[in-house]
This record gives sequence, C-alpha cells and structure tokens, in this order.
Amino acid sequence: MSRNRKLGRFGALALVVVLAAGLAPAGFAQSPDEIQKVVNAAYEKYRGLKEGANADYIPALAKVDPNLFGIVLVTTDGKVYTAGDVASEVSIQSISKVFTMARVMDEQGPQALVDNIGVDATGQVFNSIIAVEQHKGAEMNPLVNPGAITATSMVKGTTADEIWASILVTYNDFAGRPLSVNREVYKSEAETNQRNQAIAMLMWAYGHIKSEPLRATDIYTKQCSVNVNARDLAGMAATLANGGKNPLTGKQAMKPGNVPQVLAVMATAGLYDGSGKWLYQTGLPAKSGVGGGLIAVCPGRFGIAVISPPLDAAGNSVRAQKAIADISNALKANPLASTPR
Ligand code: GLU
Repeated sequence: MSRNRKLGRFGALALVVVLAAGLAPAGFAQSPDEIQKVVNAAYEKYRGLKEGANADYIPALAKVDPNLFGIVLVTTDGKVYTAGDVASEVSIQSISKVFTMARVMDEQGPQALVDNIGVDATGQVFNSIIAVEQHKGAEMNPLVNPGAITATSMVKGTTADEIWASILVTYNDFAGRPLSVNREVYKSEAETNQRNQAIAMLMWAYGHIKSEPLRATDIYTKQCSVNVNARDLAGMAATLANGGKNPLTGKQAMKPGNVPQVLAVMATAGLYDGSGKWLYQTGLPAKSGVGGGLIAVCPGRFGIAVISPPLDAAGNSVRAQKAIADISNALKANPLASTPR
C-alpha cells in the first residue's frame, strides 16, 4: 500500500473521529461542546450567589463549607459534563430515600409501598407528625420521613447489619463506586433524631412498621449520613434516567419496570413543600437533601446533580435549583413539553 493511500485512510478515520466528537449525544439537539457551555454558564452565573443557609438542625451540617458548588450532568450514553467542585463530599440525606424506595420495590413489588405507605404528597413538612396523625400513618409517600423510615423497615434482612449491607450495596450500584458513612454526621444526627424516633414509634403504633421501630430509625439515620459527591449523585440520577442501568458501569441497579413509579413520587414529592413549584418550572422528577444535594432526572436523556449546601426556607439548595432549572431549560429537557404538529 502506498504511503499516500495509507495517509488517505488515516485521514478519513481522523475525520470520522472529529465529526463523531462534535455530534449531539442521543436525545440532544446540542453538541457536546454546547452542552458543556450550558453547564459552565450556569456555574459562572451562580457561583457568587450567597442566598440561603446551611441546615443546622443536625449540628454537623452547619459546619459544611457553604461555598462548595459543583455540577455534574451524565447522559444515558455515558458522557459526563462537569463544572466546579465535583469531588468534595456531603451527606446524601433525603436523596437516599429514593434508593431505599427502589430497593423495597425490587424486593416486594411496587404495590407493597402503595399499600403500606401510600404515594401521595402530604402537604405537610417532611417530618410532620400531623401528617402521620391525619390518616393514621397511611396516605403519605416514601420520600417524607414517616414513609422513608417505614420503607427502611421494609428492606429484607434478619439483622441490622444485613439490612444495612443490602441498602449500601443498592446505593453503590446506583453511584458506581463503594460509598461510606460520614461518621461525624451520623453521630450528630443520631444524637439529635428524637423527632424521627417519635415518628417511627407512631408508624409502629399504627401498624406500618412491623417491628423494631428504633432499629429502623437508626438504619435510616445511617443511610442519610452516606457521603456522596456531585459525580456520585449524577451517576445515581442518570441510572434512573436509563431504566435503572448505570450508564457509566453498565450495572443494572434496579428493575427497569419500577423506575417510572420512583420518578412519579419524585415528581410529586421530591422537593418538600417546593415540589409543585419545581415541577411547574422544570417538569423534572427530582429529589433534594438537607445536605445541599439535588438530583433531577430527564428520562431517557440524562441525570444531573448539583451540590451547594445553603438551603431556602423549604429546605432545598438555592443554587442547585437555579443551576438545574437553567441547564434543563437550555437543553429543552422538560419531559412535559411537546411541539404542536
Ligand atoms: N436525615 C434528615 C432527617 O431525617 C433528612 C432530611 C432531609 O434531607 O430532608 O431529618
């Protein structure tokens, strides 16, 4: 083969590689460069924003650096876009509830949660005792504390260690790496979680938690204390966007058939009392945690996560909400939007 022909083949291959690099990923009108620009723009726009305050009802959360700000978007074909601090860890807090919910559904089928907890927004704060009293512990959902502690109590296992191991493996599969508990946060929350203990006792009294309510509360406290960075959370969100299969590791973290129900509850109850406003604005199923994390899912396209600890009055990260709303609008990611024919 002549040198020229060899070069010609090489040239054609190089051209294909260059073109492919500029092509829009599946489901996107934008090229990878444009997506990265959208992510960078949101980061630059909000990095100086100082609104909100760290949660302080769990003392250890008040000590987390409020300037921490990182954005990660993971597409269902495994592309990763990042801006800011994507490696620093915060405790996952309420975002964990989504993945324990997924675990229970995989073990017992989707009806078990509907029957024992419900899948409706309570209209009350996430740790409301009035919400428990209103319907004797029914007609709530697995993303508020009474429902979440009950969901944790439903995870199969004979000992606390066995149940915990099963929960952590689930989280690891979603995140794509082994996660661990932030001991300081766990200790701080365990010392101050009397309200959650009371909620668990009530859920036990009403027959939703079948046994050992305080064991369930302790495992729940541990699950809320798992450390995650923005990259972990984005991988977890992208797994939900991809039929329960982690697009970065290829691991099936939950049954695909249960994903729509998880997303439905995220859509209606994922951002505490701000859930309606959030859905109105973005159309995206999402879940926030008082540690400052927020995940959102664009089914079939991408998962996105932002970490920024200062929260608004409803308990949702201020910068995370703004950054994700901007990015999803720029990427035309509202799953409820359609174009007239
Ligand atoms: N562990 C926290 C609690 O139970 C979670 C709250 C949250 O992130 O919403 O109070």
